[in-house]
Amino acid sequence: MSACLFCKIVDRTIPATIVHEDEHALAFQDIHAQAPVHILVIPKQHVQSVQEAEDGGAALFGHLLQTCVKLAKRQGISESGYRIVTNVGPHAGQTVFHLHFHLLGGRPMSWPPG
Ligand code: 5GP
Ligand code: ZN
Repeated sequence: MSACLFCKIVDRTIPATIVHEDEHALAFQDIHAQAPVHILVIPKQHVQSVQEAEDGGAALFGHLLQTCVKLAKRQGISESGYRIVTNVGPHAGQTVFHLHFHLLGGRPMSWPPG
């Protein structure tokens, strides 16, 4: 069995509030939401971060980003706007080493990020 937290969510060993699933992607509510909408969009296949994707990464990233856009529409934040973030490595504060895009929205956000 995988030791990876998000792989465990994919195989339903750990519960999560899942909002979307398809052949390649899973999306669920972040457990520590930083905004009224905070969804994590992940590949079902284990990939550590955008840096570690192998051949086919472009198609996978495209699919995950399109999924974020679709979910933003469904969550009603397309007009107000939203942010899609992926953290890579220590300086970005990555804490779970299974690729994920954060979809954040439902409140104004400042820039630059901290
Ligand atoms: P990172 O810091 O790696 O970019 O983001 C990891 C995210 O995963 C964090 O926003 C954190 O709140 C979320 N997270 C960590 N553990 C769990 C969990 O068990 N379930 C869910 N749904 N989210 C989690
Ligand atoms: Zn994993």
